[in-house]
Amino acid sequence: MVTIVIVSHSKQLALGVRELATQMVQGDFPIAVAAGIEDSDNPLGTDPIRVYEAIASVLSDDGVLVLMDLGSALMSAEMALEFLPQAQREQVYLCEAPLVEGAVAAVVAAAAGKNIQQVIAEARGALTAKATQLGVDNPQLSVVNSESPTHAEYPTVEIRLTVSNRLGLHARPAALFVATAARFQSQIQVRNVTRNTAAVRGDSINQVAILGVRQGHEIVITATGKDAEQTLEALQALFATNFGEDDSTFAPAQTVNQEVSPTTSGELLGIAASPGVAIAPVIHYQPPAINITQYHVDDSDAEWQRLQTAIHTACLEIQAVFAQASIQIGDAEAAIFDAQLLVLEDPVLLEAAHQRILEHHLNAEAAWQAVINEVAASYQTLEDAYLQERVNDVADVGQRVLRLLVGNAPADLHLLEPAILVATDLAPSDAAGLDPTKVLGICTTAGSATSHSAIIARTLGIPAVLGVGGEVLHLEDGTLMALDGETGKAWVEPKPDILDVLAAKREAWQTALKEAKAKAYQPAITRDGRQINIFANVGSINDVQVAVANGAEGVGLLRTEFLYLGRTSAPTEDEQFIVYQAIAQVLNHRPLIIRTLDVGGDKPLPYFKIGVPEANPFLGWRGIRFCLDHPELFKTQLRAILKASAGHNLKIMLPMIASVMEVRAAKTILNDVQNELRQAKIAFDENLQVGIMIEIPSAVAIADQLAAEVDFFSIGTNDLTQYVMAGDRTNPRVATLVDALHPSVLRMIQQTVQAAHTAGIWVGLCGELAADPLAAPILLGLGLDELSVNPQSIPILKQAITQLSVTEAEAIATLALQQDSANHVRALVNC
Ligand code: PEP
Ligand code: MG
Repeated sequence: MVTIVIVSHSKQLALGVRELATQMVQGDFPIAVAAGIEDSDNPLGTDPIRVYEAIASVLSDDGVLVLMDLGSALMSAEMALEFLPQAQREQVYLCEAPLVEGAVAAVVAAAAGKNIQQVIAEARGALTAKATQLGVDNPQLSVVNSESPTHAEYPTVEIRLTVSNRLGLHARPAALFVATAARFQSQIQVRNVTRNTAAVRGDSINQVAILGVRQGHEIVITATGKDAEQTLEALQALFATNFGEDDSTFAPAQTVNQEVSPTTSGELLGIAASPGVAIAPVIHYQPPAINITQYHVDDSDAEWQRLQTAIHTACLEIQAVFAQASIQIGDAEAAIFDAQLLVLEDPVLLEAAHQRILEHHLNAEAAWQAVINEVAASYQTLEDAYLQERVNDVADVGQRVLRLLVGNAPADLHLLEPAILVATDLAPSDAAGLDPTKVLGICTTAGSATSHSAIIARTLGIPAVLGVGGEVLHLEDGTLMALDGETGKAWVEPKPDILDVLAAKREAWQTALKEAKAKAYQPAITRDGRQINIFANVGSINDVQVAVANGAEGVGLLRTEFLYLGRTSAPTEDEQFIVYQAIAQVLNHRPLIIRTLDVGGDKPLPYFKIGVPEANPFLGWRGIRFCLDHPELFKTQLRAILKASAGHNLKIMLPMIASVMEVRAAKTILNDVQNELRQAKIAFDENLQVGIMIEIPSAVAIADQLAAEVDFFSIGTNDLTQYVMAGDRTNPRVATLVDALHPSVLRMIQQTVQAAHTAGIWVGLCGELAADPLAAPILLGLGLDELSVNPQSIPILKQAITQLSVTEAEAIATLALQQDSANHVRALVNC
């Protein structure tokens, strides 16, 4: 039978709990008590030796459940375990359940002959009855121990909630969960009640994901620490808002036929993962194999350091992929790379690798591979197909670190000619970098419609058939292949009749796509004849191609950070010049607004030491402040931009302007660079316009003065909102506050537009707000001349504008400015 130990600071309390619990089973039951300390003046406390003796007195092969009251009771119990031999220690389970209710529930279960897991589950669920009776809502917040903490002892707070977002705690919500938990000091544990799992650490992305939490599952989250309640409130808010997911974006069922239909001869059958038809020569992709040998290392500290360096570099690389992916496939899909970063920060995984290196003197590669394999295996044991797919993300991260450890070059997926990419599998980071104009189709032997690679293929519009037979891997490069991503079929050297049918289907598919996009090529003109320029926010040449294909009339924001991040030294003038020029060429005289470097703060450049970490990075050394303090770095970029401006339609935009002095200082440096170029007889556009981002409230307040200094404004509502609302844009706890539709932000936009127009300069908006279809009438009504959005949003935004008239938009904007909350603004536009 399972036995029980009560650990409490107060002997009276422990004896009372024992009395209450044993009464429930009307008789003798093995409950040992370890309570109070040997100090008659101050008897409250816990003593590890007493706890050890109590456990030893009721040791049982069926298990011993230890229930504790407050903070140091847990420490004493943990120490007591150290005194036990390993075999006995494994029979003892420390349980976070509430003391009184937990003891009663556990005794009842144990007396009924339940096993230790069932007894633990009963103890943990002990508050349900009370909560139900009190009518606490679901999700419910109930304080397990509401007594004021004494000394360093904090209560454990618990929430029990039902998960409502469609895919449960899959990679992105799990990442958001862990990232949110990490902002607080409390210790977080979470368990899946529905699947009856043990509690796992809330700061471990893998452990949280492995809980297999799906829609409708009930979970319990406990927090222990001084900010326990705030922690749980923040976590609860994530669930309440479905982790910010719009479930409609997770609707692969519409486009994906996971059913495998029967095949006729010559066909390969796979999973329909991304619709569309491709007919092109095959090109194989095989990432270079990484062969790991296991060996003994003498200097395990140096080996651990080596692994940490590789992990750090991997983080930088993933940050670069993330930045690129946010622009190319949108923030929601790019968040999977955020989840990959969390894998690399997972304390459980790092501790396991550390232990292998330090205790077993294993080399870094072998240690890392072993822990990655373990994590991947835990995902594979899950019944849930979606969560099983997360193995690919873990493997992707794992391979990246291994590649860095062995010094292999990164895989190159840049195709010179259009082709169908054939591979065993594609890692999400590989898929995110694909160029849809070259990769016409994807055919893999592994993968599924719910893999991140499939999601990315759909976002990029590349037809994909996954999970076909291994024979495709033996095809010669250049062999003609056809695939239909809607039916999940592929053909190698298709017969002419099949080719005809597929060519006709591809034609129809491409025509439908073209028609949809054709409208995007038309200017965005309102019903009453006003044109708004629709530009794109981009971060690479590839994005520019996508933007142009989606109807972008120019680039309103080139985030040049992508050139600087994820590397060990700043890009040279030539490297930058080549990229700026190439982008300008793709744009073919459409305007290209190049924003000068906006790093620092939350995006530090590793090769520029900033010294003491900043307490408030968003209020710190970023954007123009950083550049003015690094004139050589700034001049290199300005020279590259100026050189690329010759014969192209380039403009320079300065970020994070807070004062007139900054604009003047930047323009002085620009003048110096222009003079140097003139002296060296290097051509540049003498009429190149200079604009600034309006994203700091002070800039709005002095917009009239700033307008006299520059040629245009572009309002950065992402930052402007965080500064106006004094809410960190990356902090989910204040996410509802940091809403660009708040009337205070809208009034700032209005003020900026008025100042710009009075001074005779144009004003655009390049924050995420511009891509919000609800915002279109307001922004039009406020008088913006240009809107710059991510390439995917262009067709929808253009369509929205053509359906509006300026007169009605102005009326809506006037009303919006008078609302008292962002929600009321939303309601106004929605009605
Ligand atoms: C903004 O702040 O609105 C903006 C467009 O710039 P970023 O998001 O790069 O800070
Ligand atoms: Mg900004």
